[in-house]
Amino acid sequence: MDNTETLIVIGAGHAGVELAFAARQQGWIGDIVLLGEEPHLPYHRPPLSKTFLCGTADADALSLRQAPAFEANRITLRLGVRVHAIDRAAHQVLLEDGSALVYKKLALCTGGRARALDVPGMEGAAPSNLFSLRSQSDAKAIAGSIREGSRIVIIGAGYVGLEVAASARKLGAAVTVLESQSRVLARVTGAVLSRFYEAVHREAGVDLRTGASVQAIECDAHGRVTAVLCGDGERLQADVVIVGIGMLADTTLAEVAGLRVEGGIVVDEHSVTSDPDIMAAGDCTVHDSALYGRRVRLESVPNALEQARAAAGWVCGKPRPNHAVPWFWSDQYDLKLQMTGLSEGHDACVVRGTFVSRSFCAFYLREGRVIAADAVNRPADFMLAKKAVAGGAVVSAEALADTDTPLKDLLAATSTG
Ligand SMILES: Cc1cc2nc3c(=O)[nH]c(=O)nc-3n(C[C@H](O)[C@H](O)[C@H](O)COP(=O)(O)OP(=O)(O)OC[C@H]3O[C@@H](n4cnc5c(N)ncnc54)[C@H](O)[C@@H]3O)c2cc1C
Repeated sequence: MDNTETLIVIGAGHAGVELAFAARQQGWIGDIVLLGEEPHLPYHRPPLSKTFLCGTADADALSLRQAPAFEANRITLRLGVRVHAIDRAAHQVLLEDGSALVYKKLALCTGGRARALDVPGMEGAAPSNLFSLRSQSDAKAIAGSIREGSRIVIIGAGYVGLEVAASARKLGAAVTVLESQSRVLARVTGAVLSRFYEAVHREAGVDLRTGASVQAIECDAHGRVTAVLCGDGERLQADVVIVGIGMLADTTLAEVAGLRVEGGIVVDEHSVTSDPDIMAAGDCTVHDSALYGRRVRLESVPNALEQARAAAGWVCGKPRPNHAVPWFWSDQYDLKLQMTGLSEGHDACVVRGTFVSRSFCAFYLREGRVIAADAVNRPADFMLAKKAVAGGAVVSAEALADTDTPLKDLLAATSTG
């Protein structure tokens, strides 16, 4: 493979940065240009809803790599630069300032953007005290608006919504969370975990409402939200509103360029798109999971890193297909949640440990096979569970429920395949 020319990476988030460094480490000889539209040095996104929002981590602590590391690896990092279009025939990316860059290989690591709330009151410019949380700038704006006693209404009880709720409680705000589904985290985990996290948030003083829709946003003459009107007619006074209703893969460049896009840029196990000269990695992609036998879109740092490494291996002629088991973590209050696998479609759930101790592991089985697990404050169980999911361990629910048998012994004795 000719790797003496330019590799261009669009998007300087987790996937883009990893891809650029991994390509250099794996032997890309030519130029590597990393283009990012945000002005900040590439940063870790997960702390935005956690330590950064609480004020226990500052912007410096977020950096993925320090500036000299880019130079040392001969990676040209261009920040504040938005790519406007891709000309596949000419092998060029077109920047918003009108200039063009030629690539030999191209990688799209464009991530996603927060899904917008679509209710009356949201037609014009976004109200100045209504936020979504995707970027460092969003997090700074939210942190700057939360005071002790502020009335915060959070719309959506996915991870981001719940992590913001936990952080806002730490800062002394009065927090209400509205979730339209019948349980929190419904999109990503089983009912057992949802019930646990609902109880945790209520104990922490969050007014958590499930099955609660939003009818409208009410604003004053200065374009500030004053209240959130709920589906049941209740009017919740609000100083700050945070919308956490998921993200949309940022696929515009790919779509316009004619790449295959189906709810995300479609990639294979080498992170190659429908154009062999273009890779994609991270939140902007979908792929067929061999493990789950279906198309998946993963929004997690581990997935962004794995796909980036696979792409780097591919462009450097050292294929390293990505068959990693999905995993994710979430920090709320004193709880470290680590999840592995995808629990959708499970037919049994076994909990080892207790909610009261705030330390347990929920295993999800399908036809006796471990397909996913959620570990709360149980890092050792998480590591074992991850291996069990990867190996397709078969274990009976009864055996798993027997807490007298150490998990290690139990999983070591299971068949895989
Ligand atoms: C608040 C929050 C908390 C999270 N917590 C966790 C967690 O605890 N654990 C976990 O595993 N994951 C977490 N995630 C998810 C995780 O951050 C994402 O999965 C990860 O950032 C994906 O990386 P990425 O590189 O694909 O996309 P991103 O990190 O979104 O990076 C994409 C970059 O591309 C840039 N870009 C897009 N279009 C263009 C263009 N045309 N030109 C130039 N640049 C462009 C964007 O500005 C952005 O900087 C969290 C996400 C958020 C928002």
